Amino acid sequence: MADPSDKVPGQAQGRYYVDSQCIDCDLCRETAPANFVRNDEQGFSYVFKQVRHLFPFSFLIRSNERCCE
Ligand code: SF4
Repeated sequence: MADPSDKVPGQAQGRYYVDSQCIDCDLCRETAPANFVRNDEQGFSYVFKQVRHLFPFSFLIRSNERCCE
């Protein structure tokens, strides 16, 4: 489960976030490219834009054991 005290930097403020356990698998960016982007220098994803609807994120939570909260 993602840890809210361990968020990666640069994220949009809001409910959803990525923590330092990100393994840079690209799933979130493929699933919701308008909301997730990659930090190319450090090799992790972060929430670029928050969304109102859970749908794209619920897929990530199920498929990747809640790497994103
Ligand atoms: S799906 Fe999770 S582990 Fe994969 S890149 Fe996105 S935040 Fe990182």
